[in-house]
Order: sequence, then C-alpha cells, then structure tokens
Amino acid sequence: MVNTSVVTPSPVEEHSDHSGRPMARAIPGLDQESLELTLQSLKDFAKDRLPDEKLLEWDARDECPLDIVRAMCGAELGIQLLFIPEEFGGMGGGALDVYRICEEMARVDLGIATAVLATFLGSEPISVGATPEQKRYWLSRIGQEGLLFAYAATEPEAGSDLAALRTTAERVMDGERIAGYTINGSKQWISNGGIADAYSVLASAPGGPSWFIVEKGAAGLSHDQPEEKHGIRTSNTAALSFDDVYVDADRLVGGTEGQGLTQAQAVFGYTRLMVAAFGLGAGWAALDRAIPYAAERVQAGSPLSQKQGYTHKLIVPHVARLEASRAYIEESALRIDSGEGNLNTEGSIAKYLASEAGNLAADSAIQALGGYGYTHEYKVEKIKRDVRITTIYEGTSEIMEMTISRDRWQLHLKTRGQHYHDQARRLEGLHARHPAAGADVAALALHALAEVMERARLGRLTRYQHILLRLGELIAYAECAGSLAQKAIWAAEDRLDPKASRRFDPAALASLSRIFAREAAFKVAEEGLRWIVGAGAASGPDIAEFETRSGLAAIHRAQAGLLADMDAAADTLFGRSGKAT
Ligand SMILES: Cc1cc2nc3c(=O)[nH]c(=O)nc-3n(C[C@H](O)[C@H](O)[C@H](O)COP(=O)(O)OP(=O)(O)OC[C@H]3O[C@@H](n4cnc5c(N)ncnc54)[C@H](O)[C@@H]3O)c2cc1C
Repeated sequence: MVNTSVVTPSPVEEHSDHSGRPMARAIPGLDQESLELTLQSLKDFAKDRLPDEKLLEWDARDECPLDIVRAMCGAELGIQLLFIPEEFGGMGGGALDVYRICEEMARVDLGIATAVLATFLGSEPISVGATPEQKRYWLSRIGQEGLLFAYAATEPEAGSDLAALRTTAERVMDGERIAGYTINGSKQWISNGGIADAYSVLASAPGGPSWFIVEKGAAGLSHDQPEEKHGIRTSNTAALSFDDVYVDADRLVGGTEGQGLTQAQAVFGYTRLMVAAFGLGAGWAALDRAIPYAAERVQAGSPLSQKQGYTHKLIVPHVARLEASRAYIEESALRIDSGEGNLNTEGSIAKYLASEAGNLAADSAIQALGGYGYTHEYKVEKIKRDVRITTIYEGTSEIMEMTISRDRWQLHLKTRGQHYHDQARRLEGLHARHPAAGADVAALALHALAEVMERARLGRLTRYQHILLRLGELIAYAECAGSLAQKAIWAAEDRLDPKASRRFDPAALASLSRIFAREAAFKVAEEGLRWIVGAGAASGPDIAEFETRSGLAAIHRAQAGLLADMDAAADTLFGRSGKAT
C-alpha cells in the first residue's frame, strides 16, 4: 500500500521558472522521500501482482482485471490518494508527482494505468468546480472507499468537438425549486464504463453544458459490452446509455448550470501531462526491452548493440525524443506546481511530443527485436498496441497541433514576431555559460521557427488548416529542444528539481540534448520552408532570402558532430565506452 504516514509538509525551495529566473517557491505535493516510497510501492505491487505472463493473459482474453484495479485504487495500494487533496484524506500530490507515478504505471501496463486515470479524470470536474460539500462528499469517498469513477464526455457524434454533445439534462421542478434533473442520451468509449461506481457525465442542461454525478445502479443507466480494442485491452471501455436517469439537484457539479465546458477545459493542462507521461512510460518500457535484447543478440559475429546502423536508427533517436518530451513534461509540471495556472498549451505540447515519440519508440522496438518482436511473448508488440491510444484520447494529436498552433500564433502576433526570437536569445545566453548543452542549436530552432511563423503571417498561410497544424508540430519540437537544453544545463549545475528524473548523468543528457536540438532545428527550417513554398508564399529569390533569415546554413553546419554524439549516447545506453562499429 502507498505509505501516507511519511508525507510531510511541502518544503520551500529555490527553483527556476520557464524563463530561467531562479525563484523561491512553495512546492505543493509530496516530498522527495514520499514520492520515492510511492514509486517503490507501485514497483513492488507490479512485481508481485502484475507479472508479464498475467498481463499477456489478460491482454489475450481482452479482460480488465477488476480485482487489480480495485487493489490499486483502494486499501491495498491506495494510488488514488495521490490525486486527493490532504484536507479530504488524500496525499495531495502535485503535477510532478502525478507525472512520475503515471510514467511508472504506464511502464507496467497502460490498460491498467488507464483505469486509474479514469478515476482521476472523473474526479477532476469535482476538484475544479464542485461546491465545498460536494468536494468533501465525493473526494473523501474516492480517497477512503476507493470509489472507481468514469469520465463520460465523449458521445457517438461528439468526440473532438465536445460542444456538439446531445445528451440532455432536463430540470425536474418542485414548485419554484429545481429538485433534480432527468438525463437522456448516450456516451461512447468511456474508460471504466462497465465497472465504475460513479460517473461524471457531461450533459446539456437548460443553462448550458454541465457535469452531473450519476451513481452505478441508477434507474435507466446501462452500459454496453466492453469494446474489443486494438490495445489497452486490460482496460474496460464501454458505451453508456441514459434513459430518463433521474439525479437530485445536488448532483449538478458546482450547483450552477453551464459551467461544464469551462470545467473540462480547466484541467486539460494537468490531465494531458498525465497522458504525456503515459506515452513516455510506454515508450521507455519498449526501449527497455530492446536495449538488453540488442546487447545479447549476436548477428554477423557481434551483438546488435555494437552495430551503428542498428543503434542509431532503432534506439538512440527515440531516447533523445523521449527525454526531450520528459524535460518538457517536468518543466510544465513544475510550473503548474508553482501556481502558474493550468497551462493547457504546455500540456498539449507535452502530450503531443511524448505520445508521438512513445509510439515511434514502441514501433522501433518491434523492429529491434526482429521476428521475436512480432510475437506476443516478447511484449513489445503489446506495448505498441497499447501506446497507440495516447495519440487519441484526451485529445487527438491533430487537435493538439491545432491547440498549440492557435495559442502560439497569438503570442507571435502580440510580440510582433519576437516571442521565439526572445526565447532563442535566452538560450544563447545560457549557451555562453554552458557550451555543451545544445542550447545554441535549440536557439537556432527557435529563431528559425520565428521566421517560419513570420513568413506564414506575411503570406496569410494560417488560412490553410494544414499549415496551421504543421506549425503546431514545429512549435512542439522547437520548444522541447529548449526544455531539454535547459534541463541539461540544470543537471550540469546540479540544480535539477529533487523530484525530477535522473536517468542520465549530465554528460549523457547534454549529448541527448545536442542530438534532439539538431533534429528540431533541421525539422523547423527544412519543413517550414517546404510548407511555405508548398503554399505558394515563397518562390525564386524569396526562397534564398528565407534560407538566410531562418539560419538554414548555420543549422546545416550545426549537424557537425551528430554521429559522435549518437555514438556517445549508444555507449551510455549499452553501458560501455568506446565507439560503435
Ligand atoms: C480506448 C478509449 C478510451 C477512451 N476513454 C474515454 C473516457 O474515459 N472518457 C471520454 O469522455 N472519452 C474517452 N475516449 C474518447 C476519446 O477522447 C475520443 O475518441 C477522442 O477525443 C477523439 O474523438 P472521436 O473518436 O470522436 O474522433 P473524431 O473527433 O471524430 O476524430 C477523428 C479524426 O479526425 C481528426 N479531427 C477531428 N476534428 C478535426 C478537425 N477539426 N480538424 C482536423 N482533424 C480533425 C482527429 O484528429 C481524428 O484523427 C476514449 C477513446 C478510446 C478509443
């Protein structure tokens, strides 16, 4: 069980905000020791109760192991306490704690992790918008009774566009007073849909979309058979039907109609960080199988791990991308914990890069294991199927691209094109202090991004949805390059947050940062140019001018040393010194 007795009040520590300025902050959440203990409890539980054979068996049978989910979200492990504030008997974990735990859960099994996530998601409208009495009642019950929740927003006709929801909640009047509501409609793809004790349901009330809490067994509430899914087959996903389901007025979250979409929006920064951590954990789970395999497997007279054409294609770039997304997750989580607000766009960037990187890493891990990777037994195939969901739920990758692009476009306009140039100049300042961390190349990526966006403004290219979404991708790469360079510098200065991951030492982190920064800079400049020319906004001499302004030649020159850095990263990953052959 998660040990709550060692949770101590949060310390005040010096940290640094996203602009790199050191600041004193009261860190919410667990102290380092409590976080480590919680992670260890989870690892022990997984070792004991979730061996690979069991997970593969449930996966093959398409079965959600309810007793395991209840043990994790109940008295035995008590993982749900992490999400519950201390005043309601929980541990009051912060965003950084939640990311670390979500990563660990995803390393074990993404389907079971999804069941835990669903309870957290279901409790979020309550945490954000409920009345004090509702919070006390429901959050205490989740904490103490291990109530399983589901978050029921999506409908057959309303997925990415939640505003299209059709489920209705009609008032039931008692004279002048609203006595309750009658809910009618259906919900689609609801995690824990067939096993939850209670449901947070988004429905259209006369005053607008609103959240209602409906308990299992309510008359008129039914669920379909669980969906037969491509992956996360250990999670229960089911459609729900509401046929004149009556709830008392005190089940309207917050007591005021029309707050539903705002309440849903208010938690995206946080919840998308959780899914980002899922992509990260699953991606690493796959690579952590491929790496020892490559060290053992001998082909053409030597282990695969000694073959550069193997490591530098199938392993190293994925490690760099995953660690870039980790740096961004950590930076965003620390900012949320420092009280900067919900950070929806940052959550979207983190989710976008981590989930895409996790998918690529898992796919590559199948290739790395050859024929064995293609079989169930070696589990990378399962991980690949599981991680696929992370680019779909909590907002698809395309919706992330749109969210990122729209928000940063506004910043570009507001600062007259200087937003990313300013960030680049900050990194250039850091580079002067730490020339090995890749901050100079991350700065090149950000300068090039500013130029791509300016070109897009001049050519009015955001009227093309494809360009808008491609900008979202480039923004995510450039910002994550900045974060990883910043993390590499903090690591070199021994200033990392005590709860941040320390998987790599400062030198290894710096080489990963240089690898990723080169990829990001190259991608921003080359793909940016491609879309600008492709949309007809530059031709002939304009192209040469853009190449100069975006620093394309400098970005090409910055690729020098890439192979040596990839060699160094492979040496670290395979625990050896000397060059790959
Ligand atoms: C296993 C699983 C578990 C889930 N769990 C939950 C849950 O617990 N609770 C819950 O409420 N929901 C849940 N969902 C639903 C999930 O969040 C939605 O599936 C997701 O938001 C996408 O909605 P959709 O499936 O309707 O796809 P659509 O919105 O129809 O999208 C289909 C495709 O079109 C793209 N697209 C959509 N809109 C645009 C646009 N404007 N411009 C360009 N491209 C666009 C999308 O990116 C996607 O590629 C779950 C889904 C699955 C599969």
